[in-house]
Amino acid sequence: MTTPTPFKPTINPHISQSATLNRSKHLSNAMSMVLPALLAVVLMTSTQAPWGPSVFSILLTVLFFVLGSMGLGIGFHRHFTHHAFKTSAAGKAVLGVLGTWSLQGPIVSWVADHRRHHRFADQQYDPHSPWADDNGKIDNRLAGWFHAHMGWKFKVAVSDENRYVPDLLKDPVVMFISRHYWAVAIAGLLAPGVLGLLYGGWDECLTCLLWAGCIRAILLHQFEGVANSITLLFGSKVDGSQDESRNNLWLTVVLMGEGLHSYHHQNATLAMNEPARFDAFGHVLVFFEHLGMVWGLRRAKKPQEVLTAHPAQAGLQGTATI
Ligand SMILES: [Zn+2]
Ligand SMILES: [Zn+2]
Repeated sequence: MTTPTPFKPTINPHISQSATLNRSKHLSNAMSMVLPALLAVVLMTSTQAPWGPSVFSILLTVLFFVLGSMGLGIGFHRHFTHHAFKTSAAGKAVLGVLGTWSLQGPIVSWVADHRRHHRFADQQYDPHSPWADDNGKIDNRLAGWFHAHMGWKFKVAVSDENRYVPDLLKDPVVMFISRHYWAVAIAGLLAPGVLGLLYGGWDECLTCLLWAGCIRAILLHQFEGVANSITLLFGSKVDGSQDESRNNLWLTVVLMGEGLHSYHHQNATLAMNEPARFDAFGHVLVFFEHLGMVWGLRRAKKPQEVLTAHPAQAGLQGTATI
C-alpha cells in the first residue's frame, strides 16, 4: 500500500517569498509617504517663513502636481505599463523622472504591481483591490477601502519582476531611473525650493518647498489612493466587465481620464479612454503626437465592438495587458 503524498501548499509564482525583499519594499513605501509629511512639519515648526502660500508657490504647486500626475498617468501607467504609445529615449526619461517625482516607488516595482493588478483584477493576488489581497477576499468594505487606498503599500508582497516586467528590466533608461529612485525622488521634492530661491530669496524658497514640494507630494499620494480605491467601489461598469473596476465621471475629471477605470480594464492598451471627451491625458497624448513627441498611439477600432468586448477578446490576460 502506498503512502499518500502529503498536501503541499502551492507557492504563487507571481509574488516574492523573500521576507527581506518584502520588508524593504514596505519600508521604502513608508518612507515615500512619511518623508514629505515630515519635511512639511519641520518647515512649519522650525522656520520663520510664512506658512501661507505665495502666488508663485501656488503656481509651482499646480505645475508640479500636473507634471507629477502626467508622469504617473501618461508615463508609468499608459506608457511603461501598457505600451499605449511609443516615444524616444528622452521622452521615456522625462516621463520616468516626472513619475518618480510623485514618490510612488521605482518605475519597475510600480509597473510590476500594476500589471499584477490587471492580471488578477479583484481576485486573490490583486495587490491593491478593495475586494481582495494576497490572502484572499476582503469582506469588510471599510477595510477594503483602506487597503486599496494606502494599506497595501505596507502589506502585500513584492510582485515578481522577472515575470511582470521583463521588458523594463532590459531598458537602460528605465533601469537607471529605477535604481536611482531616491536621488530622483528627493530632487523632485527639493526642486520647487530651488526655483523659489531663484525667484524670491530664502523665504520664497521655504514656502515653495512646503507647498509645491511637500504638500503637492502628499496630495499626489492621496489622488493615487483614490484612483485605486474609489474607482473600484463607486461608478458604473462597462457591459461585459469581469471585475469590479468602475467608470466614475466625477473622478475622471479630477484624475484627468484615469477615473474611466472599467473602460480601461476592458481596453487596457489604448492611449485614449472612452468617453474620449473626459480623458484629458488622452487628449494630451494626441497633442504630443501632433508635436512629434510621441507616436504609434494605440486607438480603438470600432467603439461598438470595443465597448462590448470580453476581456479575453481584448487581450487583457497575463502579459497581454502590456
Ligand atoms: Zn485597475
Ligand atoms: Zn492599467
